[in-house]
Amino acid sequence: MKPAPFAYTRPTTIEEALIALASDPYAKVLAGGQSLVPLLSMRLAAPALLVDINGLAELETIHVSEAGEGVVRIGALARHAAVEADEDVRRVQPLISNALKLVAHPTIRNRGTTVGSIVHADASAEMPAVLMLLDGSVTVRSVDGERTIGVHDLFVGPLESSLAPNEIAVSAQFPALAEGTGVACDEVARRHGDYALCGVAAVVGVDGAGAVTSARAAYWSMGDVPVAVDLTEAFVGGRLSDEHLAAAAELALPHLEATEDIHATADYRAQLARVLTRRVVRAAYDDAVARRETNS
Ligand SMILES: Cc1cc2nc3c(=O)[nH]c(=O)nc-3n(C[C@H](O)[C@H](O)[C@H](O)COP(=O)(O)OP(=O)(O)OC[C@H]3O[C@@H](n4cnc5c(N)ncnc54)[C@H](O)[C@@H]3O)c2cc1C
Repeated sequence: MKPAPFAYTRPTTIEEALIALASDPYAKVLAGGQSLVPLLSMRLAAPALLVDINGLAELETIHVSEAGEGVVRIGALARHAAVEADEDVRRVQPLISNALKLVAHPTIRNRGTTVGSIVHADASAEMPAVLMLLDGSVTVRSVDGERTIGVHDLFVGPLESSLAPNEIAVSAQFPALAEGTGVACDEVARRHGDYALCGVAAVVGVDGAGAVTSARAAYWSMGDVPVAVDLTEAFVGGRLSDEHLAAAAELALPHLEATEDIHATADYRAQLARVLTRRVVRAAYDDAVARRETNS
């Protein structure tokens, strides 16, 4: 199929883009086009106007700040591939690069944007869940000004974010890896590069004696929105064993919505969540211990 007719504009400043977006309630932002163009072609979206932001070089920036607690700020036009390859991003918050490796194929990552993926709000996508796990935020602008939306107020429902129709997301902020913590992520997909049947990312804190001080995991493809769950209480006395990891997985399950579709039964998805929770939390723990050893 071909898209329904639409008007198109490619502004050269963010102010022009905001005015164009405000001019039509049925306007949509076009970033990498890796989600929007298929939706247009299948006529699942039919905006009256496309505001192409690819001419706004000021949104291509990736900024890493190590001051205070540290933050990685990714501009709205930074492509997945550029973020994944950025050494400073990898050093300050390695979970971003780790998770981007799981996003689609290199060709799609060359074009698709990390911020576009977040505001597209697909609960099967990796980066919304990573932002949720890390307690990040998105900064948006409109003709009325700028605001920053905390991740817990961002995802409203399936493919629905809390951005107003006249707002452009200009950046996403991911807190840096805290001292004494480690991260990991993994997923199971039918084919490499497909959206996952279930995906898990975790951040685990350890003390100098190797005891678990905190454990959180976030899940994708397990409900209408990404879900983050605090698993710390499963690690009684800070200990980590197969039994504790199994307890952590059971703690997470009631928060997840394992659904059935043509790819997998609900039971299979729930089992993936169990297996991946055990695997990913263990890997995040190992990462935390290894970082402590390197830094000591
Ligand atoms: C075959 C295939 C496989 C894929 N597999 C995966 C996968 O495994 N995991 C995954 O996460 N993604 C996957 N993707 C999607 C890919 O990551 C997209 O790049 C991403 O979801 C959207 O980013 P984009 O820049 O392409 O946004 P676009 O497609 O341009 O836009 C998507 C939506 O977000 C809105 N939008 C985008 N940027 C902004 C902004 N700055 N401000 C306001 N609104 C904005 C658009 O209006 C649109 O509604 C896949 C895509 C394809 C084609």
